Amino acid sequence: MKPVVAIVGRPNVGKSTLFNKLIGERAAIVKDVPGVTRDRLYRDIEWSGHEFLLVDTGGLEPNTKDYIMSKVRYQAEVAIEEADVVVFIVDGQAGVTALDEEVAYVLRKKNKHVILAVNKIDNLEKHSELVYEFYGLGFENFIAISGEHKQNLGDLLDLVIEKF
Ligand code: GDP
Ligand code: MG
Repeated sequence: MKPVVAIVGRPNVGKSTLFNKLIGERAAIVKDVPGVTRDRLYRDIEWSGHEFLLVDTGGLEPNTKDYIMSKVRYQAEVAIEEADVVVFIVDGQAGVTALDEEVAYVLRKKNKHVILAVNKIDNLEKHSELVYEFYGLGFENFIAISGEHKQNLGDLLDLVIEKF
């Protein structure tokens, strides 16, 4: 069985954008509107001789705040169960939100490898003040990336395969 790597996070942080960049095609729909990735999407990928299954998560239909909260938690839980490594995406431009804390809470309860990727850091030289507040989420594997601009994605994949 190939290792499973799940991309997890609240709506609109850039999970599907990252997934598409990593697999090299537009399999997942990217939208400004939260909740367009209806199911989990799977693709085989290979990095530095390591093959694994990458999973984009979603399934979030915007409704009430509580509804989104429970869906985020559910999706995160399902993805975490089947994953060997979790890439937890947050939005570095938006800062820490209650939904990020919800996902972090679910992740901390499980004994899985988690890599926190602070996304939308489009200018890596100027990123520092944006990423610091995410240290508070309590994950020791930490990287600043830009999915859209393909910044640091190789370093992210290096961190992922270290955990296999
Ligand atoms: P998802 O809901 O987590 O799957 O997020 P999407 O991949 O659909 O992206 C949500 C929005 O964030 C879209 O408008 C993307 O273009 C934008 N986005 C994704 N990655 C980046 C990034 O690295 N930088 C910037 N500035 N925007 C991004
Ligand atoms: Mg998506």
